[in-house]
Amino acid sequence: MTVSALVTLPAQPAPRAAVELSLSEQFDAPRVTVVRPRMENLRVERGAARPYSRPGWGTVTWLVRPAAPFPPNVPIVLRLDYAGGGERAGFIFYVGRDAAFAAGLNTAWYPEIEEGPLRPDGRVRGLRGTGTLSVTVPRGWRVHAPGKRAVERHGGTVRYRFTTRTPVFFSFGAGPYTASTVKGRVPITVYVLRRHGQTRAVAEASARIVELFSNAFGKYPFDSFALAEVPSEAAGAAGFAGASVDGMMFPSTDFLDKRVNVAYYGHEIGHQWFGNMLRVDGAAGSWMLSEGLAQYASLYAVVKLEGSAAAEEYRREGYPGYFDEGAAGYFRLAAAGLDHRLRDLPADAPESRTLSDTKGQLAWEMLARTLGRSRFHAALRQLAREHRFGRVRWDDALASIVRTAGRDLQPFYAQWFDSTELPPGQTMLQWTPRLHAMADALADVTRAESLLNRGQTKEAAELLRKIARQAPSPDPFAVAFRVHDDLAQLAFDDGDLATARTEIDAALRAPNPPPRELAPAHLLRGRIALAQGDQAAATESLHAAIAADERLGNRIGAGIQARALLDR
Ligand SMILES: [Zn+2]
Repeated sequence: MTVSALVTLPAQPAPRAAVELSLSEQFDAPRVTVVRPRMENLRVERGAARPYSRPGWGTVTWLVRPAAPFPPNVPIVLRLDYAGGGERAGFIFYVGRDAAFAAGLNTAWYPEIEEGPLRPDGRVRGLRGTGTLSVTVPRGWRVHAPGKRAVERHGGTVRYRFTTRTPVFFSFGAGPYTASTVKGRVPITVYVLRRHGQTRAVAEASARIVELFSNAFGKYPFDSFALAEVPSEAAGAAGFAGASVDGMMFPSTDFLDKRVNVAYYGHEIGHQWFGNMLRVDGAAGSWMLSEGLAQYASLYAVVKLEGSAAAEEYRREGYPGYFDEGAAGYFRLAAAGLDHRLRDLPADAPESRTLSDTKGQLAWEMLARTLGRSRFHAALRQLAREHRFGRVRWDDALASIVRTAGRDLQPFYAQWFDSTELPPGQTMLQWTPRLHAMADALADVTRAESLLNRGQTKEAAELLRKIARQAPSPDPFAVAFRVHDDLAQLAFDDGDLATARTEIDAALRAPNPPPRELAPAHLLRGRIALAQGDQAAATESLHAAIAADERLGNRIGAGIQARALLDR
């Protein structure tokens, strides 16, 4: 993609020797001109290159240095032209032939000014901006971005312009979209790449969730909300299953195919308040105030839209077709020695996400029950008012909740956030003999899956093979099923079809397969058989996937994917 950017930096009281701008490592050196004030002999120096843990996800800093410093008290206007991107995905950044999307919060696809000292881990930590975003696409494509829209057609291309006065991280979704809108105080639009049976239902559920959260957490921060579909493979390469950016989210094709997954949409819409509008300053609380609160909001959406039985299931074992979490997910991590106190979950550990999605969610739920839900929500509204579009430190956020609650919460905070010991007398997370037995039986599988989540596939495969050789008998918690299923997926990802087939057959022969895992396992066998050209086995497995998903009310989504493969 080629980018032309006109950047205005506000006046500053002191002269500046250079201006520092961050760009994703996927872009070539920018050509820079200073539009205002007039400056001579400009040098553009490549500054710190900060790689991320994945190639293509890092950030490079560029220094724009005139011969004499930029004068004080006048705004600086720079023009930058550069090209790049498109060969591989970045973090929530992808430019392909099927679709394109970019999240300014995660990848510096436009020139960003860092908010503070550069982060050594390569992540961009930019400032919000206002202004106009123009995206030119081939005819037949549509673009969505937050702000007021104008469209111009020129021959074979279409130019979309979006103007926003609300400070945002500029993001957009583009593709051969068709759109479906639910009108309301906050209009909701779903952009889809192809037909899904659920598009209208997704728009309607999103509208209800936005309204529910506006009442609970304060006015929705943007003019509209949009969902822009992204191909599942592109989402995987760009590091997400669903992502929420200012005023919009990027649901993957897989999720749009499923029966409306209220937990998923509730979580991503919850991030509009927690993680997008309200961000965290410092390492402490960075998971709990974004991920943990989004996951609390998700649970609240489930209880309000689907009732207390659905919420109870979510709390105990996770929401079907979402992630396998809930209390059981937490106990599995704890038994595998992967627990950590909530207040300062490490930035990069994959367990941090699971811990904030499980124990973190339930800790906020417990606080809501302790204070009364309406008082807890009043505290969240006050917190959002105090730090609208700003950052808050963990301790300041906790103090703000105490002020609104009007009572001492130190004992609650100490028990839930500062310790891995479970608070006595609470009812959210209780070890039962069965949970102990399950979590202990699966401890090694949990460790292997943690290695997988860290990208250590070789070590994970070795551990999985070792567990497979010593699978317990009897096997009430499906150790053998899970291990062979994971090994089948690994072999399939590697293109080793024969091993993948052997492993998936072993999984499907293993005792006590978990009902929620069965449809995806049949679907995987169907995919392997298709790749092998074994049409008969593929048809049989895809029908089995459809039947297994039907038994769970089609909530897993594998049945719909299987049907799509059968129809090809
Ligand atoms: Zn999240």
